[in-house]
Amino acid sequence: MHNIVLFGPPGAGKGTQSQKLIAKYNLVHLSTGDLLRAQIAEGTELGLQAKKLMDEGLLVPDEVVIGMIGNALQRNTQAAGFIFDGFPRTVAQAESLDQLLAQHGTGVACMIALEVGEEELVTRLLERGKTSGRPDDQDETKIRRRVTVYNTETAQVAGYYAAQHKFHALNGIGEIDDIFQQICTLIDQHKAAQPEAPAEATQEVKA
Ligand code: AMP
Repeated sequence: MHNIVLFGPPGAGKGTQSQKLIAKYNLVHLSTGDLLRAQIAEGTELGLQAKKLMDEGLLVPDEVVIGMIGNALQRNTQAAGFIFDGFPRTVAQAESLDQLLAQHGTGVACMIALEVGEEELVTRLLERGKTSGRPDDQDETKIRRRVTVYNTETAQVAGYYAAQHKFHALNGIGEIDDIFQQICTLIDQHKAAQPEAPAEATQEVKA
C-alpha cells in the first residue's frame, strides 16, 4: 500500500488535489470532513453531535474520527493505498493512524502540506461558501476560527511526520495543475524509494 497524508489548512486545496491524485494513483480518498458530512446527511446521532462542533469551526473529538478511519480501513483492505485528507488533525490522531495502518501491515509513506496564508484562505472559503452549502464556509468569523484551530491544534502534526523524515511542504498558491505536478513528483520519489505492486482496478470508498 502507498498511503499519503495531504495536509494544510482549510481552503488550501486538499480536496481539489485529492480528486486528481486518486485518479492518477488509484488511491482510496478518505476525508474525515466528508465522512462526517455523510453522517450529518444520514441524520445519525454521531452526525448530530459532530455538526454542532463543525458549524462552529471546532474539532470533533479524536475518538470519533479515529473510529471512522478505522472502519473505513477495514472496509477497504484491498485498496492500493489511501489518501488521507483532513486527517490526522492532532498528534493523537497521527499516532492512532500509525497503529491502525500497522495492523494492516502498512504505514504512511509521506505527508505533503499545502501552505497558504490566512487572507487567501478566507477569500477562497468565502467564495466556496457561495456554492458548497457548508455553514462553516459562509461566516468569516468561523472561517478564521478554523484557521486558528489549524494553527494551534493541527500544525504540530507536521512535526510528527518531520521527525520520521516524511514531511514535505509546497506552496499552495498557484495553478492547480502546477501544484498537482509538484505533488506527483514527491509521490513518485517516495514510490521509487519504496516500490509497490501495481494496482489492478480503480478503488472506491466502500461506505
Ligand atoms: P474539512 O472538510 O476537512 O474542512 O472538515 C470540516 C470540519 O469537520 C472541521 O472543521 C472539523 O470540525 C471536522 N473534522 C474533519 N476532520 C477532522 C479531524 N480529523 N479531526 C477533528 N475534526 C475534524
